[in-house]
Amino acid sequence: MKTILVTGGAGFIGSHLCRFLLDKGNKVICVDNLFTGRKENIKELMKNKDFEFIEHDIVESLYIEEKIDQIYNLACPASPVHYQYNPIKTIKANTIGVINMIGLAKKHGARILQASTSEVYGDPLEHPQKESYLGNVNFNGKRSCYDEGKRVAETLFFDYHREHNVDIKIARIFNTFGPNMAKNDGRVVSNFIVQALENKDITIYGDGKQTRSFCFVSDLIEGLYKLMNTENFIGPVNLGNPREMCTLELAELIIKLSNSKSKIKFDILPPDDPKKRKPDISLAKEKLKWEPKVKLEDGLKETIKYFKGLKG
Ligand code: NAD
Ligand code: UDP
Repeated sequence: MKTILVTGGAGFIGSHLCRFLLDKGNKVICVDNLFTGRKENIKELMKNKDFEFIEHDIVESLYIEEKIDQIYNLACPASPVHYQYNPIKTIKANTIGVINMIGLAKKHGARILQASTSEVYGDPLEHPQKESYLGNVNFNGKRSCYDEGKRVAETLFFDYHREHNVDIKIARIFNTFGPNMAKNDGRVVSNFIVQALENKDITIYGDGKQTRSFCFVSDLIEGLYKLMNTENFIGPVNLGNPREMCTLELAELIIKLSNSKSKIKFDILPPDDPKKRKPDISLAKEKLKWEPKVKLEDGLKETIKYFKGLKG
């Protein structure tokens, strides 16, 4: 039994990760400031004696007496709407917050995994994206607080590793979806499903030809867990589903799967919105023996079922 800290554990991915780690017989300490996360996501977990919730902002120092074995650092708003709401706070989470969490790992001799992102590649000029690609990122636009924040977070991880021998892991997560996304999350899958279920217009930003590759959350959790528990491999490693599609195709699929009467409405494309994105996952296949298993249609059905069941 390990004691594992999950920052951002009340959020979408974090809540699935906490449940998965508890099911494996670990003690889990979830640290979250509830900015985009919700107690509802961890309500069931609260009943487990091996689960502890600490409401805390990682930008502030965190002291934990109990010996921590592993830390998954997920604390950061992930939806463009939310990370741009308070961009300076987003940068703080990825700099001061990251330094605090690596410092905690150093003190405890714990292994720490960073939830990095495909956004480090920006609006990519290489396709699909390999880990060796250095990216095409605007550093003073509205997405920069997140993109540059996540880039500097990787830098901090590697510097603490080189200077202080901190045991690090870096996962570059590509678009992930599933139950426990917030209704007002603002990302494309949850927006389209919520709109489709209410028979409201589906808001496509731009012409809908931009592409993304969507990974179901259970696949991602397996990948994060494998990375954390694989020896002699730090990453960075892409974790995502290589099936690429444009947002217009996604909208049509969601309308069909939810038997919706929604119509498509074209809206303004936000600045610096990446035109295409698809992970090259050869490294994850080789080093982690990992690749996604869940078909997009099955993941979407599961997510539609979740949103149908939400009250209000
Ligand atoms: P989310 O917004 O649902 O979860 C983030 C969680 O972090 C929330 O519970 C939020 O309250 C918490 N948080 C934010 N700032 C905090 C702070 N300063 N202190 C403590 N807690 C804080 O988003 P998610 O999709 O679950 O993303 C989790 C992580 O994975 C993020 O770091 C994100 O950047 C990364 N990621 C996600 C995706 C994706 O497609 N879901 C893709 C790439 C990277
Ligand atoms: N998008 C859209 N309609 C929405 C929300 C998002 O067309 O209601 C588009 C967005 O412009 C982007 C893609 O869907 O091209 C994915 O957006 P999301 O915010 O989910 O994540 P991103 O990959 O851009 O961080």
